[in-house]
This record gives sequence, structure tokens and C-alpha cells, in this order.
Amino acid sequence: MIYLDNNASTKLDPEAREAMELAFDLFGNPSSVHGEGRRARRMVEEARDEVATLIGAPPEDIVFTSGGTESNALAIFSAASGGGRIVETAVEHPSVRAPLERLAVTSGVTVVAVAPGPEGTLEAGRLLEAVVPGTRLVCVMAANNEYGGVFPVEKVARLARARGALVHTDAVQAAGRVPIDVVLWDVDYLALSAHKLHGPKGVGALYARRGVPVEPLAPGGGQERRRRAGTENVPGIAAFGVAARLARQRLAAEAGAIAARRDALESGILDAVAGARAVGAGGVRLPNTSAILFEDLPGESLLIRLDLEGVAVSVGSACSSGTMSPSPALLALGLTPAHAKNVVRFSLSRLTTGQEIERTVAIVSRAASEMRSRKDVA
Ligand code: PLP
Repeated sequence: MIYLDNNASTKLDPEAREAMELAFDLFGNPSSVHGEGRRARRMVEEARDEVATLIGAPPEDIVFTSGGTESNALAIFSAASGGGRIVETAVEHPSVRAPLERLAVTSGVTVVAVAPGPEGTLEAGRLLEAVVPGTRLVCVMAANNEYGGVFPVEKVARLARARGALVHTDAVQAAGRVPIDVVLWDVDYLALSAHKLHGPKGVGALYARRGVPVEPLAPGGGQERRRRAGTENVPGIAAFGVAARLARQRLAAEAGAIAARRDALESGILDAVAGARAVGAGGVRLPNTSAILFEDLPGESLLIRLDLEGVAVSVGSACSSGTMSPSPALLALGLTPAHAKNVVRFSLSRLTTGQEIERTVAIVSRAASEMRSRKDVA
């Protein structure tokens, strides 16, 4: 299997798995005061230090959660349940968009979405035009999951905060792929997820700058300094800590090689398949992501063909009530619904080899010409 769906999830690193297995034996509750509990607590706090270091945060500003979705919800409901105006980019992940939609209904929040330009580049100035005085929250993702666009969080945050808004950034796809520094970026909230950086699924973190509102989504015990109730997922958190450390140690050395493989994949496919083009390639992108629009080839059919040949990729469309609906993020970039359904996302990791890239280019090229010769076209 050639796995090119790392924006969906990544392979658990063996060292992270080891930490997880070790933690399974530390069965005490980290809130218990006896030795068994204290050993579990130590694991959680060591992991907190590592996650904090990955993003340049004080450890006490890290809240462990069940993943990116919960982290986004925790930030948004904490910051904005009082009503007011919220500005988001039009290409946010559903775990940002959906809480905002709910707040619009339940709390009378006004949500304004600002689209990036056609090349996927988000102009800080354009977003900031929407941040009028009285704006409560700005949601600007650090990197987009579908085409890899990297957004100017630092610039947005500085100016939005100067206008009195809180700033949340979904850094789920950025973490481990580009450097993150919450002090430099000056954001109030930042969401992370372990399984996008070779950690386990079902664990994540929210950075919440000291003093910003954090209201537990589920009321309960006083864990995580009263910011997230519920007994901590000690094995998941321990593995997340190791994955965060490895991500930090490897990032500088490996990002260049990953980008070179992505570029080879992209130029290989664009050369081999007439009418193919890379979405957002004109702007700053994550090193690992390439979203390719195949002019006349349905993304879903191509995905299935590639899967049969042992290549795992994904498409931007989502199945709802039996029909494929095009990705709102791709539509926001100005793609037509038909084109948005013909986008296939290839997302690499440090484990992707040059040989796999060569094979993928050959497989995609053959699949495209066979689909065209059979008139399996959109
Ligand atoms: N935010 C972004 C940008 C994502 O890509 C994802 C996952 O695909 C999430 C949030 C949700 O993270 P999790 O799967 O940990 O809930």
C-alpha cells in the first residue's frame, strides 16, 4: 500500500506506540494522590511539556482533549457563546464551521466568512477588513487540510487582537509540518491533534493563553485546571507527548525532503496527465500536500481505481444522503462544483519514499488514460 492520505491520518510512530504501551500499565487515575496515581500524573505532565515545547507555549496553557474537533469546539464555544461577530476564513475545517453555525442559531452570533484568493492565498488585509470593532473572535486556520494553503496567522492575529478580538487558529494540519510559535503568532487559542503527527487517534490539545475564557464543554470534575472535565486519556496523552517531541526534532531536517517528493509527485502527474493542475500551488503551502484537479476525471472514480492499485488518496467531496457534494472549501476558492469533485488530494509523510512517488505517478498516469479511453470522464 502506498499511503498518500496523511492529512486524514498518519501512521503511529513506534516510539509513540511504546510510550502508549508503557502507559497502559500505569493504570492509576492521574488525579489520585497515591503512588500509582502520581506515576500516571507524571506521564501526563511530561507529555504536556513536550506538546507545549512544540508550539512554544507555557505547559500550563495546554489543555488535553479528545482531538482537533474537541479543541476547536472548546475554543469557539468558550470565546463566543456570548454573541457578537465572528470572522472566519471560508475554508475552515467542518469542526470550526459547525460550532460557528450552531452559535449563529443558538446565540445570535453573526458569522462572516472571508475566502482566500483563487490561488488559495489568504490576504491578511482582506480578512482584517471584516474585523470591525466589536468582533469577538477571528478563526484563521494555520494550514488548510484540503490543498495545504498556509495562512498568515501572525499578521492576522496581531491586527485582529489590536482591534479587541480573540484569535483562534486550527493548527491541526500545520503542527509537525511547519514551525509554530504561539508567542510569535500571538494567538489566544490553538488546536492540535495527535493523529496528524504520527501520534494516536482520539487525543489532542488546546493551547489557551492564560486568562482567556475556557468553559468546559462537558461539566464535571476539575481536571485540566477546570478547563476540561473527565479522567485524562493517559496512554493517548503519553504517546502524543512522544509524537510531539519527535515532530519537533525532525521538522527542520525533514520538511525539505518531503516537499521535494511532493514536488516530484506533482510535476510528474502534471506532465503525464493533460489538463491536470495543482490547486493553490501559486501560494505558500504545506510541504506534504498536493491537491490536483483532473479537468475531466471524476475524483471519486480515480480514487477507487488508485485504491485498487494500492495507492491511498482522498477526494474533497463528501457523501451526504447518497450524493457526492463538492467540498465547500474548494468552492470557496472559486472552483466550479464539477471541478471541485475532480480534485484528488495526495498527502505525504516522512515515511513516503521516492520509489513510491515514481510508482504513483506511473499508476495515476495509466489510470487517467484508461479512464479517458473508456470515456469514464466527467
Ligand atoms: N482541523 C483540521 C484542519 C483537520 O484536518 C482535522 C482532521 O481532519 C481536524 C481539525 C479534526 O481533528 P480530529 O480528527 O483530531 O478531531
